[in-house]
Amino acid sequence: MAHIPENIFPIHDRSLSREDRERLLEQKGLCLWFTGLSGSGKSTIALELEKSLYNSGWKSMLLDGDNVRTGLNNNLGFSQEDRKENIRRIAEVNHLMIEAGLIVLNSFVSPTEEIRSLAREIVGEKNFKEVFVNTPLEICEARDVKGLYKKARAGEIKNFTGIDSPFETPEKPFLDLKTEHKTPQECVEEILNALKL
Ligand code: ADP
Repeated sequence: MAHIPENIFPIHDRSLSREDRERLLEQKGLCLWFTGLSGSGKSTIALELEKSLYNSGWKSMLLDGDNVRTGLNNNLGFSQEDRKENIRRIAEVNHLMIEAGLIVLNSFVSPTEEIRSLAREIVGEKNFKEVFVNTPLEICEARDVKGLYKKARAGEIKNFTGIDSPFETPEKPFLDLKTEHKTPQECVEEILNALKL
């Protein structure tokens, strides 16, 4: 049960329900949670998927570091506490967007089982589809899209996931997406098939 602050009285019989909103949008609200190393392809795949969904008439919203860290979470850093708060807020936003009937795509490293469990708990098990963007570290590092691995190896970035901070392999992802020998579009097809969309 969610923590309810003092003097806040949630209205349980709101005139419109999630089901009403979903009926209007002709779809079910859902959270797709992309987890994986930096450079594994989370954003590339999520962006492609978003375009594909849009072209087929699905209503979605993509959340990633670019639109979350610059606004809602621009007062948070990268300490353990702040990383947890970052994910907590993102998950709460998912909760609201799902109530609105949207398909929410999330692109965040979210390296630990603890942090992913927190998101799953807030979003709700049945709404939460974890997609493990499974790309070997060597490949992510060779791509080094943002030059971050080079900096981490040089000691210029501390606690970088995959280098000096662990990435815990998801235990039971909805989809274990092995990207190594696939194009982003093939990855998108695999997700759409798994979702039966
Ligand atoms: P992340 O969001 O996980 O940090 P990015 O999406 O920013 O990763 O970067 C992934 C890079 O890998 C991009 O340059 C992309 O073009 C490339 N890439 C190659 N093959 C794939 C694939 N099958 N899926 C996703 N990205 C791929």
